[in-house]
Amino acid sequence: MSYTEEVYERVVAQNPGEPEFHQAVKEVLDSLKVVIDRNEEKYRSLSILERLVEPERIISFRVPWIDDNGNVQINKGYRVQFNSAIGPYKGGLRFHPTVNQSILKFLGFEQVFKNSLTGLPIGGGKGGSNFDPKGKSDREVMAFCQSFMTELSKYIGADTDVPAGDIGVGGREIGFLFGQYKRIRGLYEGVLTGKGLTYGGSLIRTEATGYGVVYILNELMQAHNDSLEGKTVVVTGSGNVAIYAIQKATQLGAKVVALCDSNGYVYDPNGINLDVVKDIKEVKRGRIKEYADRVEGATYTEGTGIWNIKCDVYLPCATQNELDVDGVKTLIANGCKYIVEGANMPTTREATEYAMANGVLFLPGKASNAGGVATSALEMSQNSQRLSWTAEEVDAKLHQIMKDIYAKIDDAAKRYDMPDNFVAGANIAGFEKVVDAMIAQGLV
Ligand code: NDP
Repeated sequence: MSYTEEVYERVVAQNPGEPEFHQAVKEVLDSLKVVIDRNEEKYRSLSILERLVEPERIISFRVPWIDDNGNVQINKGYRVQFNSAIGPYKGGLRFHPTVNQSILKFLGFEQVFKNSLTGLPIGGGKGGSNFDPKGKSDREVMAFCQSFMTELSKYIGADTDVPAGDIGVGGREIGFLFGQYKRIRGLYEGVLTGKGLTYGGSLIRTEATGYGVVYILNELMQAHNDSLEGKTVVVTGSGNVAIYAIQKATQLGAKVVALCDSNGYVYDPNGINLDVVKDIKEVKRGRIKEYADRVEGATYTEGTGIWNIKCDVYLPCATQNELDVDGVKTLIANGCKYIVEGANMPTTREATEYAMANGVLFLPGKASNAGGVATSALEMSQNSQRLSWTAEEVDAKLHQIMKDIYAKIDDAAKRYDMPDNFVAGANIAGFEKVVDAMIAQGLV
């Protein structure tokens, strides 16, 4: 049995009931096999893979809070501090009823490689809670965030662990979390990113993940003598990543015709009107169904199936495992040529392999959605300097980072004779830097 297979079996045996974590580890280890095989003895003797798949620390805690009816509610809170070889832990907080340790370990593990690809000094972590902010009042969200941070504040700091937003954690939640950290620790420091502009946030951070997805898509297309101009695009989700991917794709000449939320999807043949989406999602915190009531010519379909809409480019920006092999087959049959992940692991393993084997140019989330965390790292730099850069400066840096990521994953794929296999390219390029730093720092 190869070293990578051995370590995968060990992960499955030692982490029962964590299917998402197993899935993420398998995908990475499978593509690292070519790298490991060339130097197996050295990696084995240092137990590099065993160390890579074991989080440095997992903190889990109780989050008590009181709802608007005066009832006590209890949620679970977590922080997975996965790997700090190249910098302080960095990664988002997710508030969603499905959150559990498996999902946060998969996200933390992916984050290690993603953060490495950005070229910036940030290690990997992830956290969150099974709290559902949907339908809660602002007061309830604040009560929850304050209780969550009361515990989390013991383990984070500007030079140790810097969380950010993710699903269910946007500007409102980051504000409440920051306020409570400051109150408890007495420190005004860059302990969270995605902050508001009046208290240390960075311009372009809100837009960064979605913009980054489209910047790297653009690199991929240019490298294949193609462009976004006149292309039809389908984006899934209607949250932070989706909204700004739609905005940038539209600016670059594409027509985005569909988006969704977890209840259903909207098709607008005239091109999605983003002002309406922002009003529904960012202001009213409503459902995407309302779009069809407000925009003439748009239709709403309840349930899944957004992949049935014909497109050249598909950008899954909602959640993990949202796109399966049947969805990919339909996309390909309808002429889709590019799938670029905005979400983390939105495409199942089988669907990813099918897409790549059938001529789709595919970019994995750990490369294509890295613009968010990269801009978070730029926010950290600004906080440390006590300076704010202009939107143009941050956007230019983000754009360059996405170009560099494309160059790195393309180069790694070519070095190992797998041109256009960007899944392998991203895993290998991310791994090389982290492992070099781990080896240099000894057995810690
Ligand atoms: P948001 O909470 O802002 O939006 C998530 C969107 O996805 C919502 O529209 C939500 O709909 C929809 N959604 C969730 N589950 C499903 C489902 N099963 N089917 C269809 N739609 C669904 O989150 P973000 O936009 O911030 O994050 C989206 C993805 O991008 C996540 O995988 C996240 O980890 C990843 N990501 C985010 C980054 C960031 O900077 N925000 C950075 C890098 C990655 P509903 O409202 O119905 O729940």
